[in-house]
Amino acid sequence: MQISESKRLFAHAQNFIPGGVNSPVRAFRAVGGDPIFIKKADGAYIFDEDGNAYIEMINSWGPMILGHNHPMIKEAVIKAMENGTSFGAPTAREVEIAELIVKMVPSVEKVRMVNSGTEATMSAIRVARGYTGRDKFIKMEGHYHGHGDSFLISAGSGAITMGNPDSPGVTVGTAKDTLLAPYNDLHAVENLVQANKGEIAALIIEPVPGNMGLTLPLPGYLEGLREICTREGIVLIFDEVMTGFRLAKGGAQELFGVTPDMTTLGKIIGGGMPVGAYGGKKEIMEFVSPAGPVYQAGTLSGNPIAMAAGLAMLRHLDTHPEVYASLNQIGRKITEGIVKINLDLNLNYTVNHIGSMYSLFFTDSPVVDFESAKKSDTALFGTYFQAMLKRGVYLAPSQFESLFLSTALTDGLIEVVLSAHKESMKEIL
Ligand code: PLP
Repeated sequence: MQISESKRLFAHAQNFIPGGVNSPVRAFRAVGGDPIFIKKADGAYIFDEDGNAYIEMINSWGPMILGHNHPMIKEAVIKAMENGTSFGAPTAREVEIAELIVKMVPSVEKVRMVNSGTEATMSAIRVARGYTGRDKFIKMEGHYHGHGDSFLISAGSGAITMGNPDSPGVTVGTAKDTLLAPYNDLHAVENLVQANKGEIAALIIEPVPGNMGLTLPLPGYLEGLREICTREGIVLIFDEVMTGFRLAKGGAQELFGVTPDMTTLGKIIGGGMPVGAYGGKKEIMEFVSPAGPVYQAGTLSGNPIAMAAGLAMLRHLDTHPEVYASLNQIGRKITEGIVKINLDLNLNYTVNHIGSMYSLFFTDSPVVDFESAKKSDTALFGTYFQAMLKRGVYLAPSQFESLFLSTALTDGLIEVVLSAHKESMKEIL
């Protein structure tokens, strides 16, 4: 595999872009080697600048749930482009997508469109604070909610990868209002709530976290959080930027039957365009300006091209429930295949899996929270990543990420991925 053009671009990029990339995890620091630069993507494949093809297991970190370059989304974008790229004024399409989101996501009665998941979570916390008149909020260790200051405290994902969980630039004053609890530990949350009685505005959580590697909620955990928040007047926020429209039409909240007060969305909602959204109960969302006093705005929010892509995606998911059956089957085939190959090789590595998301951890212990995720042998993960890449399979370049599968992954391609896994495991062990 020749990657000389990617190497050249990466070296050149470092003259003009910090670290040569526009988002840290793309630099491959956690897995070694130089990143590949992508020229185009289609269906289940991405292609680099040297002409190599790779089977996609990340799909732009989640958005491309139907595979890349889907004709329906392409057509919607091209059609929208003919009428101009930005108006900074309301459009019919925004109303349509809002109505659809309200229909699809159980907790959402009103919704505001923004441009990224980061904007969605920052805004949701502000609204929860405005609504309750309280300052503090609880987040879980290792969970990632974008790069807003108050979330960069034991943030997972890229922050772990960079060995930089608490970023310089976040003030002590900001950090003091972020309270941390370990995931899957209801007692810890109860203790925090009692120690800060009447002062906690919100509890924000990835209901099924992907940003410390995929980790599943223990039975009763989400229900327990719901009870505590209701009892204490705390706004329960599910950050479904990853899981929204992926685990089910209505996200993790639909799948687990637990309804939060607010929900943050991103990724799939934009069909590959930069879109985020936050929504929730009417009485809370009525606090958002201009309906209420909590300010939040955006020049490009509800951008007509982005809305066209998002609308095409959501309409399709809404009217094709078979997509989820198919994604579940793809996820099951891949993870069952990996576990079987591992057992044949006398390996007992943990595989966490739900629907079309999974993580293979290089540890034999169960992974249920941030502490157990950190037991994974990250150096071995890096070697595995490179072995898979060499065989034409593009994984997330960090142990602390979930993989995101798409409907474009055929049975034939699943076989190719599994055979690459087997060969890679044999090579690295
Ligand atoms: N919340 C979660 C759960 C995420 O996974 C991410 C990004 O991966 C974000 C928020 C931030 O979204 P964005 O990268 O669009 O700002």
